[in-house]
Amino acid sequence: MDIRKLIVNILIIPLLPIGILVALYQRLTCKHDYKKIKTVHGDQIIAMGWTRSIWVCEKCKHEYWSSDLNKMTKR
Ligand SMILES: [Zn+2]
Repeated sequence: MDIRKLIVNILIIPLLPIGILVALYQRLTCKHDYKKIKTVHGDQIIAMGWTRSIWVCEKCKHEYWSSDLNKMTKR
């Protein structure tokens, strides 16, 4: 067993849940900055429950499905 790898593992493993918590916290407290990434066409509109466009927050990558083409409509 490589002792240096062992030490690195011992240091990193307890940090993983903290990293996940920080990522979750950032997502929950994110003041979303949405950019439109896709327009939905044809059958997909119905398959996605009358979604016309897909928007993604640039900070936390949260997806928002809008029923309007050019603005974000609450559903
Ligand atoms: Zn966000």
